[in-house]
Amino acid sequence: MAATPVTRFAPSPTGRLHLGHAHSALLAWEAARRAGGRFLLRIEDIDPLRCRPEYTAGILEDLAWLGLDWDGPVRRQSEHMAEYRAVLDRLAGMGLLYPCFCTRADIAREVAAIGHAPHGPDGLLYPGTCRRLPAREREARIASGQPYALRLDMAAALAHAPRWLSRIEHGTRRRCDPAQFGDVVLARKDTPASYHLCVTHDDAVQGVTLVTRAEDLAPAAELHRLLQALLGWRAPRYCHHGLLLGTDGKRLSKRDGAPTLAALREAGISAREVRDRARGSAPLATPPGG
Ligand code: GLU
Repeated sequence: MAATPVTRFAPSPTGRLHLGHAHSALLAWEAARRAGGRFLLRIEDIDPLRCRPEYTAGILEDLAWLGLDWDGPVRRQSEHMAEYRAVLDRLAGMGLLYPCFCTRADIAREVAAIGHAPHGPDGLLYPGTCRRLPAREREARIASGQPYALRLDMAAALAHAPRWLSRIEHGTRRRCDPAQFGDVVLARKDTPASYHLCVTHDDAVQGVTLVTRAEDLAPAAELHRLLQALLGWRAPRYCHHGLLLGTDGKRLSKRDGAPTLAALREAGISAREVRDRARGSAPLATPPGG
């Protein structure tokens, strides 16, 4: 018999939730509730500059109003920095990380000098400047207190990864191609962790078996699959759903002022109606587990 699913909703508290979030949350909640599984809530609040406690409170309030109950305690990523540090230490011990001292301006200069600027899902691909630094210079710069990020040495990581990785496909029917991220940052200068590191770690330790999230994060799953393979973590299934569009045809986003669930509530729209709108208006890109 198939195990019951463990799903999750993992918003970043950088604003109030809108219908797009409700769509993701509902998919995860319904997938769990339909099958007698568990629905977890995780607050992805590692970015101290963009995350605010009042937005976390708003998320809890909005979900409760929508009637989406979660199982167990809420996991707040900011309370687990030591765990992310330990994962970074493991990857460093495998020789897969290097410190990067570059500023954005350094990277722009280097890219201009090379004359081409390939981009990946997270933006400009890092040209590898600090990967080539001699060990002695790295140590001297760290000792002098120069801030640094930690990057994954993608070529080394791929050499370390099992060969089956490049053959697997995701729900999106795409080959797994983590190299499209280049030497991705796994610990930022301002926050000693990164989205990719924390989300993969947390899905593993929380035993998440089905990840439902918007399709703009589909490429990230290919990188997450590499981290899972390197660290010996079980991979969940991924279901990346279509994005909800506003009446202007543009994706709903905090930045573009999409109406928040709180605003819809204040306008007298019932939770049921919001749930129906969130459920109905964006068809799934792939069926759950597809
Ligand atoms: N925290 C991410 C966001 O709010 C979602 C991460 C995920 O679902 O993997 O965009």
